[in-house]
Amino acid sequence: MTPVLYIVIPCYNEQEVLPITAPMFLEKIRNLAAVGKISDESRVLFVNDGSKDRTWEIIKELSRQDPHYIGICQSRNRGHQNAVLAGLMEAKDRCDITISIDCDGQDDIDAMDQMVDEYLKGCDVVYGVRSSRRTDTFFKRFTAQSFYKFLAAMGAEVVYNHADYRLISSRVLQEFANFKEVNLFLRGLIPLVGFKSTTVSYSRAERIAGESHYPLKKMIGLAVDGITSLSVKPLRLITGFGLVVALISFIGVLWALITALCGKAVTGWASMTCIVCFVSGVQLICLGIIGEYIGKIYMETKARPRYIISERTWERD
Ligand code: UDP
Ligand code: MG
Repeated sequence: MTPVLYIVIPCYNEQEVLPITAPMFLEKIRNLAAVGKISDESRVLFVNDGSKDRTWEIIKELSRQDPHYIGICQSRNRGHQNAVLAGLMEAKDRCDITISIDCDGQDDIDAMDQMVDEYLKGCDVVYGVRSSRRTDTFFKRFTAQSFYKFLAAMGAEVVYNHADYRLISSRVLQEFANFKEVNLFLRGLIPLVGFKSTTVSYSRAERIAGESHYPLKKMIGLAVDGITSLSVKPLRLITGFGLVVALISFIGVLWALITALCGKAVTGWASMTCIVCFVSGVQLICLGIIGEYIGKIYMETKARPRYIISERTWERD
């Protein structure tokens, strides 16, 4: 039995690229089916993430043109990670393998052949890894590299240079469905599910049209989310730092006492001010980090739905 593949594609305000890239995904499915690697029941599944432009209309139009195109629509914009999750959860009971990929044509679609090959050889998860970032701007490349290094330093282990281009078997997705967290950081969570995995490298191209939705601000947000949902290392660092400061303070107290006892105490306004400023600054940062975790707990306890599907291009069964 040849496996059924669902290509899961999150789309947010992508009316410029969709008409260009959609036929590329379809062709990939046709080619893979033609050589007998996947079944002809395979589909291109678009997830409209509450776009404000004509994206959903385009998806509906595509699904009328060819039955290989299908789509779901989220009730509002919930962000890339939630859109991918919605697509994966929707696909998991209908197929054997999913490949998630962005719709902007930046990730090399041809790497899918190798991904499917690896699956057929027995891997349940295949991570797409960027081999070069030549086409990214220096700034994007630098921030992205720092992102992975920082994540690793903070104890959130992720596959280096892997974004959200990956093959996941439905077996892994069935298990992943039991991960109920609201704070999603898929590239950190999928490795936690386990199963046999491998990587496939590809070169990353420029966006075909439209603009990136991941400016620096969102990258920092994603990094903070990734770290706080995968690791408690920052909290440990705070404790460690607190111990160091406490030790220095202890030495300071001894020094102050000795100076006072020797009758040499002078009115040290500058040193006093510096210490107060420094310690209160450090304390505020530490409180902020702890607050970040409390915020996470707060959102998790609410256990709100991670996605809400308002429309499908097919009748629900
Ligand atoms: N995306 C989404 N919801 C959002 C933002 C982005 O579904 O709120 C989709 C977007 O349509 C694209 C993918 O996520 O398919 C990656 O976004 P983008 O290409 O803007 O990010 P970059 O490649 O620049 O990191
Ligand atoms: Mg992109």
